[in-house]
Amino acid sequence: MFSVLKDLGWFFRREKRRYTIGLFVLIIAGIIELLPPRLLGSAIDEIVRGSITAGSLIKYIAMIIALLLIIYWITYIWMRNLFGGSNLVERLLRSRFMNHLLTMTPSFFERNRTGDLMARATNDIRAVSVTVGFGMLTLVDSTIFFAVVLFAMGFLVSWKLTLAAVLPLPLIAVAMVIYGKAIHDRYTLAQDAFGDMNDQVLESVSGVRVIRAYVQERLDEKRFAAITDDVYRKNMAVARVDSFFEPTIRFCVGLSYIIGLTYGIYLVLRNQITLGDLVSFNMYLGMIVWPMFAIGELINVMQRGGASLERIDETLNAVPDVQDVANPVAVSDPGLIEFNNVTFRYPSSTIDNLTGVSLSLSKGETLGVVGRTGSGKSTLLKQLLHEYPTGTGSILISGVPIQNIALDRLHGWMGYVPQEQILFSKTVRENIQFGLVNASDDKILEAISTAAFRSDLETLESGLDTLVGERGVSLSGGQKQRVSLSRAFIAEPEILVLDDALSAVDARTEARIVDNIRSQRAGKTTLISTHRLSAVEHADQIVVLDNGRIIERGTHTELLGLNGWYREQYERQQVEDNLG
Ligand code: ATP
Ligand code: MG
Repeated sequence: MFSVLKDLGWFFRREKRRYTIGLFVLIIAGIIELLPPRLLGSAIDEIVRGSITAGSLIKYIAMIIALLLIIYWITYIWMRNLFGGSNLVERLLRSRFMNHLLTMTPSFFERNRTGDLMARATNDIRAVSVTVGFGMLTLVDSTIFFAVVLFAMGFLVSWKLTLAAVLPLPLIAVAMVIYGKAIHDRYTLAQDAFGDMNDQVLESVSGVRVIRAYVQERLDEKRFAAITDDVYRKNMAVARVDSFFEPTIRFCVGLSYIIGLTYGIYLVLRNQITLGDLVSFNMYLGMIVWPMFAIGELINVMQRGGASLERIDETLNAVPDVQDVANPVAVSDPGLIEFNNVTFRYPSSTIDNLTGVSLSLSKGETLGVVGRTGSGKSTLLKQLLHEYPTGTGSILISGVPIQNIALDRLHGWMGYVPQEQILFSKTVRENIQFGLVNASDDKILEAISTAAFRSDLETLESGLDTLVGERGVSLSGGQKQRVSLSRAFIAEPEILVLDDALSAVDARTEARIVDNIRSQRAGKTTLISTHRLSAVEHADQIVVLDNGRIIERGTHTELLGLNGWYREQYERQQVEDNLG
């Protein structure tokens, strides 16, 4: 039940000072709070005996006021420490979570949905933060403060009476164990459902255009209603257990009161305790109500925190399926790129997505990768990025298997323009600066010219400062592609990987970009996959893929001579271009 505290041990050790002070002061506050009832009891006894004077009355009142002031100050101190810890753990966990996500490989994101990850980063982390703040408060109040009040009742009033009054306690203990387990299980289900819902929201919002275009609003509403209903039902299941906590405790507290009062009056009548004792005892009974409730809160908060921490840890403990080798081989400059009989399948695939691929590409050469859709072009290019665990065969750069090259190093060489464009909700300038941190405007404009985006840029209202993406101007598909290209060009990468990155521009623009690439990237290696063969006509080698296998290879002229897929495709595109 308290394993969540053990799992958060790193945090409590880190914040040792905060928690030592906070908890110590909290305990002191508890002890001081015991004094006013006793003072009041003594005053009443003096009144009953008729020995009270104006002087002693003022003394009693002054002492009570002084205690109140101390309690005021002390409460401030523990509150600040404990609830400050809440905010701190939230920040620490969240940045740890985020940093961890950044180390994850594509297959992790294929297995985990974004909405659920976001739920973990917000809702679940919030639950853990409640555990280290409010949870710690209830932990102290339900144990130490509870014991202190019991001792005060026993020592200052009567042990017999105290024992009688706490008879209903075991009842609470049993109930809490049962409720606690139920809360944990149901709360986990509710959080999982919340994650699913988040995911659905994300998809509906980002896909709203498609949903509208296909008039699927009603269907989407229904789907969403079903999922919110699921979240509702699962949270209600939690609430149903939740609702048992309070009545159970109230019932036990009530029993304590009945026992305490009847037995107390009996003891007063038999002259075993004084009336003042009974008044003090009643006030203590009043004070013990909160610790009893705190037991309930404690169980509840710990179970929720525990369940949420399990969800967070599940993500934090995910190990990326591609990791840096312990002793990377230092390769200063990427030279020859070789694929030797590479066979590869995606972790989630049941068939090989590349089969027996061999090729070798000298430094400075350009490789064209063509083939029908789904033939494995993107897969082949992505192998160089080492985003997935390598398959069989070997991929070497300068004679070193890429698994033995440090990932940062490897990615540092690459300029990668993926098939699906990703622009951030930032300015054009910032998007391009992703390729080269702090790049000057001159350099940015140069890259933009290479990507044939210069004239488009002039039509953008604020030029480089134009916001693109979700909150800004919507760029056309071809414009987005060319911003992505600029981002890759500006880094002047040793190896440029263009995955169908010219698909959304017209033939003339494509020709211009290809020319620019050829003249600017002399001596550097370039890999281009494309559907339009004109984009790779100039390449030193072209491979034609089909079903993950290389079925034809050679230069443009050689391939035309083969009278195969390439030639057929080329002629068809020639006809289309002439028509268009
Ligand atoms: P296109 O011309 O449409 O871009 P492509 O030649 O780039 O196609 P790939 O994206 O390499 O094709 O896909 C090759 C095969 O691998 C396809 O059958 C595809 O379904 C499969 N595939 C691609 N990505 C994954 C993935 N992440 N997990 C599992 N299978 C995948
Ligand atoms: Mg592709």
